Amino acid sequence: MFYSIGECRVPVNNELRICHRMDRSYWNPVTGCTQVSPGCDHCYALNFAERFRGIAGHPYEVGFDLTLRPGRLDLPLRWRDPRVIFVNSMSDLFHVRVPDAFIAWVFETMQAADWHTFQVLTKRPQRALRMADQLPWPRNIWLGTDAATHG
Ligand code: SF4
Repeated sequence: MFYSIGECRVPVNNELRICHRMDRSYWNPVTGCTQVSPGCDHCYALNFAERFRGIAGHPYEVGFDLTLRPGRLDLPLRWRDPRVIFVNSMSDLFHVRVPDAFIAWVFETMQAADWHTFQVLTKRPQRALRMADQLPWPRNIWLGTDAATHG
């Protein structure tokens, strides 16, 4: 693991590059989720999104209902400065209701935007494992899971 408290080191073009915490960005091509394990009991994303349920025009108008956001798929390609990008901080990319094709599109973007480093965290590692052979795994994609979960 490359992280320290005040900075991170990310591999860019096979070299380690120092970035600062402010370089971290969030990309949510999917929002909303359902709880899958005890690790979800205090889900920040759920509590945040549900605060805005019913507010017309708000990005979280439907609260934490799972929502695909195809209009956001190319967002990292428009960020020209290298960043560490947390993918789906407001969801779980490997949720059962996210279609395989949509997950593949997310991975295509991450592969194409090879000047960024993407962190994909899931509480559904079984689905990630099942799909692993269908997805590209360049060095700029980091996959993590929660060892306490069983989804
Ligand atoms: S998997 Fe993650 S986003 Fe989904 S409910 Fe659990 S903690 Fe929240």
